[in-house]
Amino acid sequence: MPETRDLLDLTDEELDCWLKERGYPRYRRDQILAWVFDRLVTDFEDMTNVPRPMRSDLSQSFHIACSKVVAVRKSADDAASKLLILLEDGQKIETVIMRYRYGISACVSSQVGCKIGCAFCASGASGFVRDLTAGEMVGQVLAANRSLGSDERVSSIVVMGMGEPLDNFDALVKFMELIHDSDRTGIGYRRITVSTSGLVPKILELASLRLPVTLAVSLHAPDDLLRNRLVPLNRVYPVSTLIEAAGQYAETTGRRVTFEYALIRRVNDSDECARSLARLIKGMLCHVNLIPLNPVSGIALERSDRVQAFHDLLQNEGIDVTIRRELGIDIDAACGQLRRRHAEP
Ligand code: SAH
Ligand code: SF4
Repeated sequence: MPETRDLLDLTDEELDCWLKERGYPRYRRDQILAWVFDRLVTDFEDMTNVPRPMRSDLSQSFHIACSKVVAVRKSADDAASKLLILLEDGQKIETVIMRYRYGISACVSSQVGCKIGCAFCASGASGFVRDLTAGEMVGQVLAANRSLGSDERVSSIVVMGMGEPLDNFDALVKFMELIHDSDRTGIGYRRITVSTSGLVPKILELASLRLPVTLAVSLHAPDDLLRNRLVPLNRVYPVSTLIEAAGQYAETTGRRVTFEYALIRRVNDSDECARSLARLIKGMLCHVNLIPLNPVSGIALERSDRVQAFHDLLQNEGIDVTIRRELGIDIDAACGQLRRRHAEP
C-alpha cells in the first residue's frame, strides 16, 4: 500500500495545493473539512457529497490520524475517560477527556515518551520515542469528539498528556493554529493551556508569538537543590531563570501563569517549602495549582498528606492557590501520568 499523508496535518494552503494539482475546485476544501471536523468521519467513502472518483483519490492520498481508538476506559463517576489510540506506525498514545461544569476538556499528548525524565512521572520513565505531528495532536481532539455524545464537543484543551510540548515546538504551534481555525475545531486560544517542565528559551519564544494561550509551569519545588532532583531539566534552566521567563510570559501575553506543584510526602511538602514558594512568586500574575501526587508503580515517592496545610499556608501568604480536582484517578487518567503499562509489550 502506498504511504498516505495525514489530512489533519495539512494547512488550508497545503490542502488547496493538493486540490489544484488534481484540478478539483477550491470549494471541495470546505466540504472535506466539514466532513472531517463537524461530521467526524474517518473514512473518505462516507463523504457522500464528494464525487466517487475524488473520494477514492482522497483515500489513496490521505489518512486521518488517530482514527483507531483501541481501548476506552471510563472512570466510575463518568467524569473522565481515557482513549488509547493506535498511530500509523504502531505507537500508542493516550488522550484523556475530562468533564467540568464549564465544558469538556481534552488532555492531549505531544510526544511518545518524554526526554525530560522527571522523578515522579510515568511518561518520562520509559524514555523518548518520537515527537507527535500537529496532525496527530489534532487527531486526538477529533477522537475525543467522536467518543462524546452527538451534541457534545471538546471546548478546551490542556497539552498535559505524555511528552514535553515545548520540546516539540513547531508541531505544537501548528496544532494550536489548526484547532483554533473556525473551519476546523474553532477552539479559542484562551481555552488552550500548555504545560511545560521549564524549557526557558521556548517559553520566551511562545511569549513572542503573543497568543493568549495559558502557560502552566511544572515547578514542583521552590529551590534548585530540590528541583534538580525532581525535574532534571532544572540543571540547565534553574528556578530563577524559569521564574523570570514565566513572569515575562505573563507580562507579554497578559495571561496569568499557572504554577503546578505536585505534592510529594516529605520531599516538597514542608511549611518551609510553602513559604519559599510564596516568596519566589509573590507579586506575579500567577496562580498555584497543587496536585496530589499520583503514585506510579516502581517509583518510591508517596502522595503528601499535607495538601490542605500547604494550600492554607500559601493562601495566608496572599498567593492565589487551588487544589486540582482529581478526575479519573481510578483509570490512571490523571494528566502527565499516562502510563508505561501500555507502552510495554
Ligand atoms: N511535560 C509537561 C506536560 C506533561 S506533564 C510538563 O511536565 O509540564 C503534566 C503535569 O503532570 C506536569 O505538571 C507534571 O509535572 C505532572 N505530573 C507528572 N507525573 C505526575 C504524577 N505522578 N503525579 C502528579 N502529577 C504528575
Ligand atoms: Fe516529561 Fe512532563 Fe513527565 Fe517531566 S512531568 S517526564 S516533562 S511528561
